[in-house]
Amino acid sequence: MSIWDEKIFDGAFVPGGAGTMPVTAPATGETIATIGQADVADLDKAVAAAKQAQRAWAALPYTERAAVMTKAAAILEAEPDRLTRWLVPEAGSGQGKAGFEAMLVTSELSAAAALAAQPYGQMLRSMKPRVSIGRHVPVGVVGVISPFNFPAILSMRSVAPALALGNAVVLKPDPRTSISGGLVLAEILAEAGLPEGLLHVLPAGAEVGAALVAHPDVPCISFTGSTAAGRKIGEAAGPLLKKVHLELGGNNALLVLPDADIDAAASAGAWGSFLHQGQICMTTGRHLVPKDKVEEYAAKLAAKAEAIPVGDPTDPANALGPIIDQRQLENVHAIVEDTVAAGAKLLAGGTHDGLFYRPTVLADVPLDSPAFSQEIFGPVAPVVGYDSVEEAIEIINSSEYGLSVSLLTANPFKAFEFADRITSGAVHINDQTVDDEAVAPFGGAKASGVGGHFGTSANLDTFCDIQWVTIQSEIERYPF
Ligand code: NAD
Repeated sequence: MSIWDEKIFDGAFVPGGAGTMPVTAPATGETIATIGQADVADLDKAVAAAKQAQRAWAALPYTERAAVMTKAAAILEAEPDRLTRWLVPEAGSGQGKAGFEAMLVTSELSAAAALAAQPYGQMLRSMKPRVSIGRHVPVGVVGVISPFNFPAILSMRSVAPALALGNAVVLKPDPRTSISGGLVLAEILAEAGLPEGLLHVLPAGAEVGAALVAHPDVPCISFTGSTAAGRKIGEAAGPLLKKVHLELGGNNALLVLPDADIDAAASAGAWGSFLHQGQICMTTGRHLVPKDKVEEYAAKLAAKAEAIPVGDPTDPANALGPIIDQRQLENVHAIVEDTVAAGAKLLAGGTHDGLFYRPTVLADVPLDSPAFSQEIFGPVAPVVGYDSVEEAIEIINSSEYGLSVSLLTANPFKAFEFADRITSGAVHINDQTVDDEAVAPFGGAKASGVGGHFGTSANLDTFCDIQWVTIQSEIERYPF
């Protein structure tokens, strides 16, 4: 029995009001753990305990909150395996992706330690002889709902700053990745000295997520997931007047400008489309290449796709692992088949062995076909040729999404001018579309989300309210 089995069954983190549920490795179909499943009654208990614990936590010297974050970062830095040994089987992560994710979580914790020590307000000018301050105060209990794909970082990038700023957190990870998306993180933070009651992990499905959104004692929701679920959460939270932060889907373009090096561009494009089987919100979903170079680019991309080893990620030789489940796989395959039926050329892939989908390259893709117009969430690279840069920018902006765009060029300053005309939360010049750093703002435009958050200053707005405080030495006198 592993430490996790013990923790899971002694009820340390998992309430289990809805009984237990198996955790399945998508690569093998094997049950790798059994965990408690939370219900709405568990949620009520968690929120009540969080509300109670938060006041004392917020009242502590900031150094104590920072110390917990620093210690948690040190634990994970020394033993990334604590996380990667679950990320690989549970989330189907290749070992490189899992190590990268553990590093991101560590740096998120370090950034949260620094955040706890940052100035948190402004001294304001006033028309009266008084001290006037605008200061950020914690909202109280933050509800975090996270997805399966990068489960640890997409939970921790909300959990760590929310805690560091003096909040308590109730975290509902995706039920397919409750261990790497929640339980391991809670264990590490507890070991780092996080006082009891401040972080609750509720392994459960969408119904407990919806109850978390509706809970009257949870004034702030940080959601990362699909645009469809984000819309439902926005609808539910609107009348409740909650602070809601939505990080949603994407259909991210990589624009190869006419002067770009095609070899380097194909390498960036392959990484952007195939990393973690394309199951990333920032995955490169549209490759735009000048018409006179598109054949060469697509052929190079196809050669790379053919060469990538795909299989059980517990074998480090496999760069890519499985799609998370059968439903997602069927969705990816249907999009590829419909796009080929619409006239696209299949240059590589388009086949699968169980949940292992071959990296796929589609050329001459019609702009209105599903592979070009929808988020695929699979290892599929749709390539189209363009006549002019003007036309390419128009195609980029025609998407309903606006999360991340890549511009590849020999003239980065010219590309910087193009960035002014692109509606996107991120623009990366001379890199592919997938990137995240704890200190950078992150957030999509249009159907990719509401507001830019994360990153040092945005976290204050995201996880705090602003309080205006004035202080004067004597009671102000009035005419009546
Ligand atoms: P999903 O929206 O189905 O699920 C995400 C989480 O939301 C899960 O924990 C799920 O249980 C919960 N949930 C679902 N419906 C809910 C509801 N009505 N109320 C409350 N909670 C609910 O997403 P998915 O398909 O598992 O994840 C992939 C999606 O997430 C993709 O669209 C991807 O682009 C997006 N994503 C976005 C970002 C970002 O930062 N913008 C990052 C990663 C993934």
